[in-house]
Amino acid sequence: MKFIEDLDVRHKTVFVRVDFNVPLNDRGEITDDTRIRASLTTIQYLLARGAKLILASHLGRPKKPDPAASLRPVAARLAELLGRNVHMAPDVVGAEVERLKAGLRDGDILLLENVRFHPGETKNDPDLSRALAQGVDIFINDAFGSSHRAHASVVGIAGMVPVKAAGFLMKKEVDFLKKAIDPVKPYVAVLGGAKTEDKIPVIEALLEKADCVLIGGAMAYTFLAAQGRGVGKSLVEPDKFEIALNILKKAKERGVDFRLPVDHVLTASIESGVVTQVVNAYPFPAELMGVDIGPRTVAAYAEIIGRAKTVFWNGPLGVFETPAFAEGTMRIARAVAASSAVTIIGGGDSIAAVAKAGVSDKISHISTGGGASLEFIADGTLPGIEALEG
Ligand code: ADP
Ligand code: MG
Repeated sequence: MKFIEDLDVRHKTVFVRVDFNVPLNDRGEITDDTRIRASLTTIQYLLARGAKLILASHLGRPKKPDPAASLRPVAARLAELLGRNVHMAPDVVGAEVERLKAGLRDGDILLLENVRFHPGETKNDPDLSRALAQGVDIFINDAFGSSHRAHASVVGIAGMVPVKAAGFLMKKEVDFLKKAIDPVKPYVAVLGGAKTEDKIPVIEALLEKADCVLIGGAMAYTFLAAQGRGVGKSLVEPDKFEIALNILKKAKERGVDFRLPVDHVLTASIESGVVTQVVNAYPFPAELMGVDIGPRTVAAYAEIIGRAKTVFWNGPLGVFETPAFAEGTMRIARAVAASSAVTIIGGGDSIAAVAKAGVSDKISHISTGGGASLEFIADGTLPGIEALEG
């Protein structure tokens, strides 16, 4: 795979796929510009070397042109951050866009409209890829967070340009996440959150690499219930019991220290926001649900994290959005932050949890891609990365 620094970009038309999928409030204002800032290294590098820049991204999941999903606010914020003009294209492709592309001078920036305004984007439609590649000398993929999708502006376009390479953000993500695939040991993986189904491939991949897997969050209850523990009203996915038991068996065969919580914070309802009791025995009272790991689990997990050389964490260990159920997640966040290990965090809610604990700056790498980081850990590559290699 080529890297942006391997290329001569002067006077070249460079198409950069970025991830500007930022959150907007109902007034259409950007509430968090982290993803825009994360792309600045690549953009400034190219501008400083006299490239003509075309930037493309998706925003949300529109199926057709939708003013509420326009990238216009992003163009304004990017112009502010760069201190220079950003031309906003009225569309993704078409005659007017072609005219704007052809008129670019060295150091100009043209931001295309939301690529998902075009139905061909998510279908990796070759006609759209070809139109995007029109007049482009170099394709740079800097959208790590979108690279698990085989879409026209991520994958298709790579096959239709003379030169392609990874940007700075892409390289940083890949370099760090590789440390979670080929880790310095002991390697501890902390997995929580709600979507057990999505995380099964990651758990299976981690069983091959990790010395220790620490489970929390709602996912723990699927494992515990599969083992016949009474977990009351806790969130469980019964159709995943068989897979859960299989994972436990594999962990044992491989000698992976696979931990489930040993005590639990219970509530009658998440909405109540109050802890009913903390237990370390089963069954739970039938009307209660587990919403956080208990203090004994926190202590055991923190001790294991303290001895690790590499830590990968995805998924909060409880309903951390509710203060009474956030304690376990906050304490594990602090344990990860205090560790001298290489620490890597992926997943939207996990990133929010670490920010809430106030320790984001003490984490070695916070991945900008939630789904993408998990798929990379599971598969060792992503469609958007393969496309740069082909
Ligand atoms: P990420 O975005 O980091 O990948 P997920 O989206 O998988 O994480 O899971 C985050 C969600 O899981 C949070 O909204 C949190 O409230 C929820 N969650 C964590 N533990 C529990 C639990 N015990 N019961 C119900 N929901 C939980
Ligand atoms: Mg999430």
